[in-house]
Amino acid sequence: MKEIFPVNVTANKEIAPGAFLLSFPRDFDFTAGQVIGITLSKGEEPRLYSIASGENQDEVWILYTIKPNGMLTPQLAQAKPGDTIYITKPFGNFICREEKAVWIATGTGIAPFASMFFSGQFQNKILIQGNRTKDGLYFSEHFSLQMGKNYQPCCSREILPDCFNGRVTDYLNTIENPDTGITYYLCGSAEMVVDVRDLLIEKGVPFNNIMAEIFF
Ligand SMILES: Cc1cc2nc3c(=O)[nH]c(=O)nc-3n(C[C@H](O)[C@H](O)[C@H](O)COP(=O)(O)OP(=O)(O)OC[C@H]3O[C@@H](n4cnc5c(N)ncnc54)[C@H](O)[C@@H]3O)c2cc1C
Repeated sequence: MKEIFPVNVTANKEIAPGAFLLSFPRDFDFTAGQVIGITLSKGEEPRLYSIASGENQDEVWILYTIKPNGMLTPQLAQAKPGDTIYITKPFGNFICREEKAVWIATGTGIAPFASMFFSGQFQNKILIQGNRTKDGLYFSEHFSLQMGKNYQPCCSREILPDCFNGRVTDYLNTIENPDTGITYYLCGSAEMVVDVRDLLIEKGVPFNNIMAEIFF
């Protein structure tokens, strides 16, 4: 098991039904796109979470949803400011810097891109964010304000202004000739990542230009 360190929760806010934004003070450096392990007790194997906050923010944000019958998330949702939780050091190489790229996320899979965004790395990027409902388009107001037309929200079960009605795969299907010379970063469930990757390959994007982080 990885080494773990205690941190004190500063906030644990339900930002949409069943979705929480956990905060604690940052006393380590990390690279946007990295993950940490979280556990509530020293004997329990930490679960992995992408950091959602920016590299220079004073607090670390973790965006998570409650998994019914899950070991960690139902209890984590009960954590109050001042409670101690345990985290590992940050690690992982789902990292995107200055290069021109497309970021594609569904659900909490937005977390690594939110971290890159809040670290100021959104120039040259297109962000495609999907969810069934609007309330799961986490941080969308920040993205649309700063990224303008380079931000494309997709909602499959709600019809909204300025939002594509359908899944991210439906949206990608509307693009006839995607740029095959840039990198596509995907983050979300295994099903979403596989579907999007297959579609991009079908449209001519080389396999090596597709980077994926799967939340399992
Ligand atoms: C690289 C990475 C990054 C991640 N980042 C995030 C993130 O930013 N935000 C986020 O919300 N999640 C993220 N995850 C997922 C996260 O690590 C946890 O898996 C998730 O939060 C569930 O944890 P849990 O302990 O509550 O549920 P678990 O105990 O792991 O259970 C999850 C589900 O599986 C079911 N289950 C458990 N055991 C069994 C079994 N034996 N048979 C059948 N079903 C079973 C449970 O009923 C539950 O519904 C990430 C995962 C990875 C790999």
